[in-house]
Amino acid sequence: NLTSGIVGLANVGKSTFFQAITKSKLGNPANYPFATIQPEEARVLVPSTELDRLAELYASKKKIPAILKIFDIAGLVRGASDNKGLGNAFLNDIRSVDGIFQIVRAFKDSDITHIEGNVDPVRDLTIVQDELILKDMEFIENSIEKLEVQLKHKGNKLMHEITFMEQQLEALTAAYDLLMEGQKVINKSDWKDDHIDALNVHNLLTAKPSVILVNVNEEDFLSQSNEFLKDIQKWVDEFSPGSPVILFSADFETKLNEEHKSDQKYNSTSALPGIIQEMRRVLNLISFYTCGDIEARQWTIRQNTTCPKAAGVIHTDFENTFINAELIKYDDVKELEHPFDEKSLKSKGKVQRVGKHYIVEDGDILHFKAAA
Ligand code: GDP
Repeated sequence: NLTSGIVGLANVGKSTFFQAITKSKLGNPANYPFATIQPEEARVLVPSTELDRLAELYASKKKIPAILKIFDIAGLVRGASDNKGLGNAFLNDIRSVDGIFQIVRAFKDSDITHIEGNVDPVRDLTIVQDELILKDMEFIENSIEKLEVQLKHKGNKLMHEITFMEQQLEALTAAYDLLMEGQKVINKSDWKDDHIDALNVHNLLTAKPSVILVNVNEEDFLSQSNEFLKDIQKWVDEFSPGSPVILFSADFETKLNEEHKSDQKYNSTSALPGIIQEMRRVLNLISFYTCGDIEARQWTIRQNTTCPKAAGVIHTDFENTFINAELIKYDDVKELEHPFDEKSLKSKGKVQRVGKHYIVEDGDILHFKAAA
């Protein structure tokens, strides 16, 4: 299960955002069978119109959405990489997440102190990114040193181990050059596959995808405009290309939660569903579904996952015992009504049998066959 963390300077609205998620209809599903959740961890439902539709279509008794874990990571200050402020505690927390929600403050409110003195989201984005870059450079320097020592004393290491160390050395050196230019490791779009594998073991902070959340006041959120937005977008295009920029208001989300306590659905004006979906997108996550009269369930996989691997998400044994799967495309059934005629669907060729090489696509409805 992939996780994401909320990152930003102090007083930009991180906790307010975190609380808003936790208390929203998307947050901490009570019927989800999980062990105790730490106070700084939220589990949010991944909004899915497909799941809602499929549960109707199959008249499923239960509907089980996918979830995304979100961690509230302590605030960052300038100099965190030198262990000022929360320093290393912060950096360890952020190393463990897969994706980053970076919150910047773009609301003006003279009652709320800005730790840098005034509201300037581009400066804040730069401070946070510089800290992540500095920390990665430090990691890389240490790793390169270790690798060089290991390569000098090859001892009885196997050929492929040596090759992998050499690849790491190459990839880390290239990553270091990028960081020197103020660019994140993820910003380079043409990493070789070997280098990606080599970098993955190092878990660099700037190799994680991010979603930029611009915290604005209610009025700006509702009109989707803000005086800083153009400059923020310009900065993102240059220093964090591909990261979605989303305007939201932590204050307004809090208000929505209070007004809509009794509603069953999340509010349509809320930015939260879109925020969750964007994080899934940058993490390259897609959904497949298993459906029946007992339950309709949404499962999470990475893009380019083969059918047996997808089966393995349901149960580890299924990956090895996988025989084949019956596949229905969401688009072929979304207009149907319950009870629908599966035979006629079959006769139209809309129920396919797929094997172990099939790459599962977003929205696939799968029924796996595995050896007992
Ligand atoms: P954190 O330090 O980043 O976790 O920031 P908090 O969530 O604790 O917010 C700091 C202060 O800013 C609190 O007093 C919040 O009520 C306030 N705040 C958060 N979001 C907004 C917003 O959208 N508008 C306004 N006016 N105040 C906000």
